[in-house]
Amino acid sequence: MQKTVEKENLNPYEIVQKQIDTAAALLRLPSHAVEILKRPKRVLAVSFPVKMDDGSVRVFEGFRSQHNDAVGPTKGGIRFHPDVTMDEVKALSMWMSFKCGVVGLPYGGGKGGVICDPHELSAGELERVSRGFMEAIADIVGPDTDIPAPDVYTTPQIMGWMMDTYSRLKGAYSPGVITGKPLAVGGSKGRNEATARGCVFTILEALKDSGRKPAETTVAIQGYGNAGRIAARLLTELGFRIVAVSDSRGGIYHGAGLNIPKVGQLKDTSTILDYPGATAISNEQLLELEVDILIPAALENVITAANADRVRAKWIAEAANGPTTPDADAILREKGVVVIPDILANAGGVTVSYFEWVQNLMHYYWSEQEVNEKLQTAMVNAYRSVAELAEKYKVDLRTGAYMISLLRIKEAMEARGWI
Ligand code: NAD
Repeated sequence: MQKTVEKENLNPYEIVQKQIDTAAALLRLPSHAVEILKRPKRVLAVSFPVKMDDGSVRVFEGFRSQHNDAVGPTKGGIRFHPDVTMDEVKALSMWMSFKCGVVGLPYGGGKGGVICDPHELSAGELERVSRGFMEAIADIVGPDTDIPAPDVYTTPQIMGWMMDTYSRLKGAYSPGVITGKPLAVGGSKGRNEATARGCVFTILEALKDSGRKPAETTVAIQGYGNAGRIAARLLTELGFRIVAVSDSRGGIYHGAGLNIPKVGQLKDTSTILDYPGATAISNEQLLELEVDILIPAALENVITAANADRVRAKWIAEAANGPTTPDADAILREKGVVVIPDILANAGGVTVSYFEWVQNLMHYYWSEQEVNEKLQTAMVNAYRSVAELAEKYKVDLRTGAYMISLLRIKEAMEARGWI
């Protein structure tokens, strides 16, 4: 097993290229179309100085990748994390293209990242990093070109600062340049919950056919931020039993089910690890628990060839982007685990980002109920089309999802005369 681990390629950029190859071969896509799709159209690397609170100046580095804009402007989040790399941002931008394709949104994929640890920055420093990065990429983003959004460790407030910087640079109020903003500056109702809500809709569709009831279903969630924490709340409201959760500091397990409001309170005031009566577990142990549904909702490459055979969940709903490597996918498939792939399971976020952008362009805003209903329709339709195609070609849901997207992007590239 050790040998396989050493050989396994964990570079997300090469992983997504492999995923494209698999689906493209089944579709017999022409090689020139595949070549276009296997790399981003544009990647910008920037560095920018930021004045720190102690008077020193620190230079930060960041990236913005725009994968393919055949279908429409590129779209995708900005991540603030110490481990951000250009290859990671490129891969994430490609996953965004395919995610938009699965839901049928008129976007291509984009993604950005800044190498930093926001936990080590004061509020003022975080604002200056956010504004500095937007200034550095302002020439290539815009409501009709490339529209960022939140991702790991970036928040609605950060989106608000970035929108403000962009609007000042352009001399015009431009809410459509970024989504995931606070409601006061053109955010959409329902956006904050959208990724988790969309993920829950896909889980409900996946369970439908099995006849399983939420109350009989146990769930473990890795990552307790926007995606993981809200998924825990929504699933609890539907009667699911959340038995384990974790964040970057570790996890907790309670077989009878965790009291999710209590976990939230601890997350806000101290740490989830203070939960009374729970067993402390590591992030690795959480992935191997005997649960029905596993929701990775943190970072990529957590389910690999090294641990996939120890995963005991029956369903995996990938709220995170890229949590499962291709080698792990093969092992899970062999074991009969159903993986609801990231480009489907977490597409709710970009779907409501799209609704936010549409509302910004119309200057007309919808109720939360309207947003949630439209999201449900989009997610259920996306799940059903992926499941049908996967059934038809006898492939897993990930390959089915890629096939749908690749066909949509290929059609747009043909219509534009690129191929
Ligand atoms: P977030 O910053 O709100 O939360 C991240 C969570 O992960 C935090 O609880 C953090 O403690 C935890 N974490 C960090 N490192 C960890 C580690 N090594 N092990 C376990 N937990 C760890 O981020 P988010 O927006 O919830 O994003 C989580 C995942 O969901 C990412 O893969 C992101 O790309 C994906 N995603 C997010 C959105 C969105 O709208 N926010 C949309 C689609 C996909």
